[in-house]
Amino acid sequence: MIDPCSLESTSLLSLDDALERIKIAIQPVMASERVALKNALGRVLSEGVVSPINIPFGRNSSMDGYALSSKDINANQPFTLSLTGVSWAGKPFQGSLQAGQCVRIFTGALLPDETDSVVIQEQVSADGENIVFPANIAAYQNIREAGEDIKQGSLVCPRLKKLTAADIGLLASAGIYDLPVRRKLNIAFFSTGDELMGIGQQPELGKIYDSNRYALAGLLADPCYSVVDMGVIPDDRQLLEDGIKQAAECNDVIITTGGASVGDADYINDILASCGVVNFWKIAIKPGKPLAFGKIGPCYFFGLPGNPVSVIVTFQQIVAPALKQLSGAAANKPLRLLATCITALKKAPGRQEFQRGILTQDTDGNFFVASTGQQGSHILSSMSQSNCYIILSADSKGVSSGEKVLVEPFNVFF
Ligand code: AMP
Ligand code: MG
Repeated sequence: MIDPCSLESTSLLSLDDALERIKIAIQPVMASERVALKNALGRVLSEGVVSPINIPFGRNSSMDGYALSSKDINANQPFTLSLTGVSWAGKPFQGSLQAGQCVRIFTGALLPDETDSVVIQEQVSADGENIVFPANIAAYQNIREAGEDIKQGSLVCPRLKKLTAADIGLLASAGIYDLPVRRKLNIAFFSTGDELMGIGQQPELGKIYDSNRYALAGLLADPCYSVVDMGVIPDDRQLLEDGIKQAAECNDVIITTGGASVGDADYINDILASCGVVNFWKIAIKPGKPLAFGKIGPCYFFGLPGNPVSVIVTFQQIVAPALKQLSGAAANKPLRLLATCITALKKAPGRQEFQRGILTQDTDGNFFVASTGQQGSHILSSMSQSNCYIILSADSKGVSSGEKVLVEPFNVFF
């Protein structure tokens, strides 16, 4: 039987199998470094962080009003307490309260020890020192208990969390100044192709602008990655081999685009096979069939196809989860949902397809998706207009308008 991963094989590997192989092949980086909290957004926590304090630190008011003891509440009729001071946010009331007394209090201010309830200012009438409260007020209302968000000594953020803005805020509320994160991945990338020219050059017949490096730089914009753009290397076996070997010495990952297919000028797989190990190279997805994954010494290698849409699809579906695993972050599956397709979609059975779609939602919350039109792997405008993939299974023979399809949203907040 022919191994689907060998260069001679003509059979294709399913995306799920490819992802499984990557999962087994990749060892996350273990080294860590301390970074200041303000620089930690998007980084991967290498150890869980425990709170040194209660959050909130002490019992405080959630409203502007009057703090009193529930023992002084008269449930049956309005009652009067005498005002004995003020508790400001940051400037707590210093004295102590006797029975029958209350204090003016503002949002975020500490409750005096003798009090346990706050009545909002709109519900009382103040006559000098005499504050009249209504009947039927609830005890313990409008207060925030010490530690009700996070208890002292409990976990604020778990190990391997990729830190969000909310995490950073929460860690700051615990007074965490710096924290241990996994080190950044060093990633080098380059384009290959004799037809490629830089975007500063005059257009020329037979040449195309190198768009892949720009798209890749965008896809790699992540605080966990330290990225080196190696430019364009021509379709020259020796130059490509030199570039790859050199990059493999000082990077965790190399990503190339182009030259990974079976044309006469496609050297990437040969080089990978002679300098390292090829894990697989043909995946049953469209766009994106020719794709090499392998290793050169300790450096992981992804040889992506040349067509610009294929680059983005294979990056998002294969490289991104792989890099995430390598960075140490906990894995998560992309959100996928069912939507009613409002355009017919053409598809031949054989490969799983990631067609580009425009996802919308009506006022009842129902999802609808339309094709972006032309689906060629060189039609980068289809990718630019889309906000989701329409995922069609390998055996699908196309979709009629009105059928439900699986979609994977992206860029939904742009
Ligand atoms: P290849 O995989 O090298 O056979 O390239 C497949 C197609 O993608 C060809 O039409 C190439 O011209 C195109 N292509 C390759 N590299 C790039 C690039 N960096 N930017 C835009 N198009 C590219
Ligand atoms: Mg080429």
